[in-house]
Amino acid sequence: MSEQMQLPTTTEVLIVGAGPVGLTLAASLVAEGVTVVLIDKQAEGANTSRAAVVHARTLEVLNGLKVSEELVSRGVIVSRFTVRDRDRALMSIDFSDLPTAYPYTVMVPQNVTEEVLLDRLHELGGSVHRPYEVVDVAQDADGATVTMASGETVRAAYVVGADGMHSAVREHTGIGFTGDTYAQSFVLADVHMDWPLSEKEVMLYFAPAGLVVVAPLPGGRYRIVATSDEAPEHPDRDHVQALLDARGPKERPAHVRDVVWSSRFRVHHRLADHYRAGRLFLAGDAAHVHSPAGGQGMNTGIQDAVALAARLIAVVRDGADQTALDDYEAERRPVAAEVVAFTHRMTRAATLGHAPLRKARNAVLRTVGRIPAVRRTMAMNLSELAADPQRNPGK
Ligand SMILES: Cc1cc2nc3c(=O)[nH]c(=O)nc-3n(C[C@H](O)[C@H](O)[C@H](O)COP(=O)(O)OP(=O)(O)OC[C@H]3O[C@@H](n4cnc5c(N)ncnc54)[C@H](O)[C@@H]3O)c2cc1C
Repeated sequence: MSEQMQLPTTTEVLIVGAGPVGLTLAASLVAEGVTVVLIDKQAEGANTSRAAVVHARTLEVLNGLKVSEELVSRGVIVSRFTVRDRDRALMSIDFSDLPTAYPYTVMVPQNVTEEVLLDRLHELGGSVHRPYEVVDVAQDADGATVTMASGETVRAAYVVGADGMHSAVREHTGIGFTGDTYAQSFVLADVHMDWPLSEKEVMLYFAPAGLVVVAPLPGGRYRIVATSDEAPEHPDRDHVQALLDARGPKERPAHVRDVVWSSRFRVHHRLADHYRAGRLFLAGDAAHVHSPAGGQGMNTGIQDAVALAARLIAVVRDGADQTALDDYEAERRPVAAEVVAFTHRMTRAATLGHAPLRKARNAVLRTVGRIPAVRRTMAMNLSELAADPQRNPGK
């Protein structure tokens, strides 16, 4: 359903894509009095759970929008992440003493996160224009003209591509999206199950056949993420049960009762060569995609949005020099590069095939896992508190 029929013909900032990144950016700009047009090609927002983790740093940056408490109240608070090999815990990472007002991770489905952000955007007086698909972007010295499939155009001082992995804005800028695609497919399933272990912990199981992650969701559900080569497009109960039987706890096995939602997808690890081309910017999946191990994709994107909003507010509203906008790429691209590398290492370590290598990996993890400083570093990385230069000046 179109939220607002009349598409403005001019605006200060045009945002393409009303996923979590576009919604965060729009709300952040509208809250500070910047004129925004937010468009999306879909007739309505997606209602599936997809990215289900909101990390501490994301809650910190969303605090300015006054949505963090709502997200926390709608999710499951998790204060521990463990790496396991069947029944043996190799490493336990505790979030509870992190130096933040949010010393935990919140498990909340992406559609709920988007709903909370959309509600806030509405409260602030903003809206999403649907369905409008961008087919052309042309920029000149003073701004950019964006053309929709309907033939309508919007003239904007700045355009942000928050339009996901296959970003049309990125295509029009000609910015490269360097990286590769993982050989395996990933399975994602939200299930009801009898789970013999903690309901307040995220568990990553390393197994020769591939990784499997088990994480609690609101409403007594669990999120299962696994690498799988033979998964059907929508994995069923038996498929998920077989994955858990082969890779999860053995002594006290899980029993999957039903699958609420499931999907199989290919995962890429790619990073845009630049985040800015003149008056065009990229944020979120349009700029970086990576393995879902660690659940960092949406988090990094939301943090991009808040960082970019601050620069756009400074230039558009406060009249700062345009060069202030260069800081956005300088600040956020290295963060994404680190996330791509970190999740790539985790994914490769989790899926080691050779028994001697796996044995060595487990031994190393058990040994280093006893060192408090190592566990602390892992907690800071996973929560994304470590990488953000805004939080760690001089990094
Ligand atoms: C099945 C699935 C499972 C996932 N699981 C996880 C997970 O477990 N953990 C995790 O961290 N991440 C996961 N992700 C990734 C996560 O969903 C993304 O990181 C997140 O959605 C990125 O947000 P975004 O706003 O950048 O882009 P998106 O959410 O992709 O939003 C982009 C928006 O742009 C719109 N759009 C695209 N092209 C155009 C155009 N030409 N004109 C107008 N509008 C356009 C789209 O309709 C869409 O609404 C998953 C993704 C999928 C698909």
